[in-house]
Amino acid sequence: MATHPTDRSPGGTSAVACPVCDAPMTRRKAWLYACPACRFLKADLPPGGGADVEGLDALRRENFEVVLDRLEPLVRSDKPRLLDVGCARGIFLDAARRRGIAGTGIEPDADAAAAAGRAGHDVRVGFFPEAVEPGKRVDIIGFNDTFEHLPDPSAALDVCRRLLEPGGILILNLPNSGGIFYRTAAVLDRLGLSFPLERLWQVHLSSPHLSYFNPQNLTRMAERHGFAEVGRGRLKTVRITGLWARMRAGPSPPLPVAGALYLGVVVLAPLLRLLPRDIILHFYRKR
Ligand SMILES: [Zn+2]
Repeated sequence: MATHPTDRSPGGTSAVACPVCDAPMTRRKAWLYACPACRFLKADLPPGGGADVEGLDALRRENFEVVLDRLEPLVRSDKPRLLDVGCARGIFLDAARRRGIAGTGIEPDADAAAAAGRAGHDVRVGFFPEAVEPGKRVDIIGFNDTFEHLPDPSAALDVCRRLLEPGGILILNLPNSGGIFYRTAAVLDRLGLSFPLERLWQVHLSSPHLSYFNPQNLTRMAERHGFAEVGRGRLKTVRITGLWARMRAGPSPPLPVAGALYLGVVVLAPLLRLLPRDIILHFYRKR
């Protein structure tokens, strides 16, 4: 996956092989590759571990309860141990602890990790998988909005397989390239309006997205690394409370444009649940 492209022109095939299906990926933009066979998308952007986007805490708390509701019936261990990858300030660890799941976290942002530590969580500062304690074994690994930040998701799945006990569960909660937001942004990008697509990839933020999956290619990749899909869930993308802060975080469009987008989302929010979902929530069991 770390091979260098031989053809730098947009639209050309490259020496970058798709990590899902091995097909040569096509260069779509200066920083974006797409697999014509399975639709996996990969960004050629610098990895980072910045603090999380503001304005999302209330939405996260609500969604994490949904994640745990779906997780609990899948767990076989009586005293399950969780590894939360990119735990930020420990909101998921908090919610898991309330349900009797003992968790540890890893988090690249030292301030966020310290906050999680103050909440009583055992958190190691650093990136996955380097920051994982040697010899660690767990029953559950969770990636909540973090898997898409990994430079090598394929290698990460191999590490997850090694860390998990037999029958252990991997939670992948990440943005969906088949969702209505991504599809709309891709159309606008083709029409010359690039900032919605750049915003979805977090191109100008400290921690850009490095890959974008859809439900099909994510499961295909997981199966290739010894996992079987055992469940899916549906999470909310938009919660009006906090939306404005979220839209204004980082470089954003001019105020009138942001205002128009905000109003559009507020008006369309009730319709979003009828459209292709923007978040993938999949549960995989180690085979
Ligand atoms: Zn592919």
